[in-house]
Amino acid sequence: MIALAASTAAYTFVVGYIVDQANGLSENASAVSNAKTYAVAILPILLGITALSGLSNYAQRLLSNAIALNAVAKLQKQMFASAHNRDFASFAREPSGSLISKFTNDVNVISSAMIRTLTNLVKDILTVIFTIAAMLWQNWQLSLIMTVFLLAFWPIIVISKRLRGNAKDVQAHIGTITSELKESFGAARMVKAYGLESSEQARLGGSFDERISRYMRLVKEQARVDPILEILGGLAIAGVVIFGAYQVSNESASAGSIGAVLTGILILSPRLRALGTLNNVIQEGLAAVTRIFSVIDEAPNIVDVPNARALSAPNGDVEFTNVSFTYGDGTPALTQISLTAKAGQTTALVGPSGGGKSTLINLVPRLYDVNGGAVRVDGIDVRELTLESLRSAIALVSQDVTLFSASIADNIGFGDMNAPREAIIEAAKSADAHDFITALPQGYDTVLGEDGSGLSGGQKQRLSIARAILRDAPILLLDEATSALDARSEDKVQKALEQLSKGRTTIVIAHKLSTVQKADMIYVIEDGALVQSGPHKALLKEKKGLYATLRNLQH
Ligand code: ADP
Repeated sequence: MIALAASTAAYTFVVGYIVDQANGLSENASAVSNAKTYAVAILPILLGITALSGLSNYAQRLLSNAIALNAVAKLQKQMFASAHNRDFASFAREPSGSLISKFTNDVNVISSAMIRTLTNLVKDILTVIFTIAAMLWQNWQLSLIMTVFLLAFWPIIVISKRLRGNAKDVQAHIGTITSELKESFGAARMVKAYGLESSEQARLGGSFDERISRYMRLVKEQARVDPILEILGGLAIAGVVIFGAYQVSNESASAGSIGAVLTGILILSPRLRALGTLNNVIQEGLAAVTRIFSVIDEAPNIVDVPNARALSAPNGDVEFTNVSFTYGDGTPALTQISLTAKAGQTTALVGPSGGGKSTLINLVPRLYDVNGGAVRVDGIDVRELTLESLRSAIALVSQDVTLFSASIADNIGFGDMNAPREAIIEAAKSADAHDFITALPQGYDTVLGEDGSGLSGGQKQRLSIARAILRDAPILLLDEATSALDARSEDKVQKALEQLSKGRTTIVIAHKLSTVQKADMIYVIEDGALVQSGPHKALLKEKKGLYATLRNLQH
């Protein structure tokens, strides 16, 4: 950048020299031989300067891009790591589209801001300094007129203060659009079946229009910078022309030095303009940085306590003692619940939806922490255990199966990243998934589409059961694992689940009471409170109880 700035500033000397020599030529009689000397003297200088300028330009461009891109990749990695470490509650609060747009849009804004800052700020400021020095050297009186230009920075500073707020607003809105797009495409089936295309188009159309007005507010501020610089540039040139003519007429300066100052102005003008608008870019960049650091700096609440214990060789006893829980938005979900899931047994949670069953099992792996009471595993408060050891003792199978766009083998393998292929196949066999997997053209190497598209609900669920089998964790949480299935798939999945729950502490949430008859213990939960408990037969005997009522309704 130093080389580039110096070679650019050197052009003022070249022009000054050329003008003075040309002036001398026209006054001299033996013009031809002089012209030859002139050309021989000027050409190597000119070629040398352009070569230096070109090469240094190329090198600085590559380097500054590499620096900015590396920095941005580092930011993305840090942000991704922080995003994964944040509390589960944060994911519920921030729509995933908004989070995604921080990785795509905001990161782009930062990368272009960094590239421009590196190139323009360092290179242009050096060029400005060197050029002004060269101009002062050649004709200081005339160059001082240039200071008019510097006045331009005052309004630019005022404008830039407002810019950052506007930029943040625009970027946040892009996050909203990303969420809406994700939601709309994700709901393609619903949209088509209900003929919602035009209403969706109107909804997103509104967002796109909203973007115009937000962006225009930003552009209006940005657009003020250029005309201010333009007008001041015009004034500076006018001043040089008038004062320069005066200097030449009274022979206090050479024509070459005036040429040098004018060349200097031509060099300075785009640089100063770039510096003026650079501030816009920096403001946008800073707004994006603020949004990104809000993720990176977010300190999770659910972390290991100092001296947290590792849960080693757990039996898998799970005990809830006087557990109360209220969601961050104030929704009370559980009040004073006490219940036990004994090691190796199956414990069922039943009751009307919205009662708090899912909330209860989310407390076991500490997706949320209790507000009152305690959840204990093997008699130890889960908050005193390391998250890593606690969570590796738990396998979760839920109604909405999560499958990644990876091969079937990899999808099962997420249960245990070190499992060999044979173990994966064994797990698939136990989950009654082996046959349908081998019937697929690429078998275990079949790459699944987004969310496992192409597989039936029952097949997806059996893959997730295979994953849980592979995990081989002592505590198994089943959140309505069969509720989305038809009778035949349900039967198969139910068998796979029975296989899976053998010898494990299983806490199962079931909507269909018929699926939990065999459970060792059933807890009936309503409105966040425990209303009944006992094995199936005992509960049926309480004729007026909620369990018997629900069962009658289901039959
Ligand atoms: P169930 O599993 O028995 O159907 P849930 O545990 O899902 O019940 O819900 C219990 C209560 O907590 C309900 O009132 C529900 O609206 C509320 N709830 C569930 N998840 C959240 C959340 N992420 N934020 C706020 N409230 C929630």
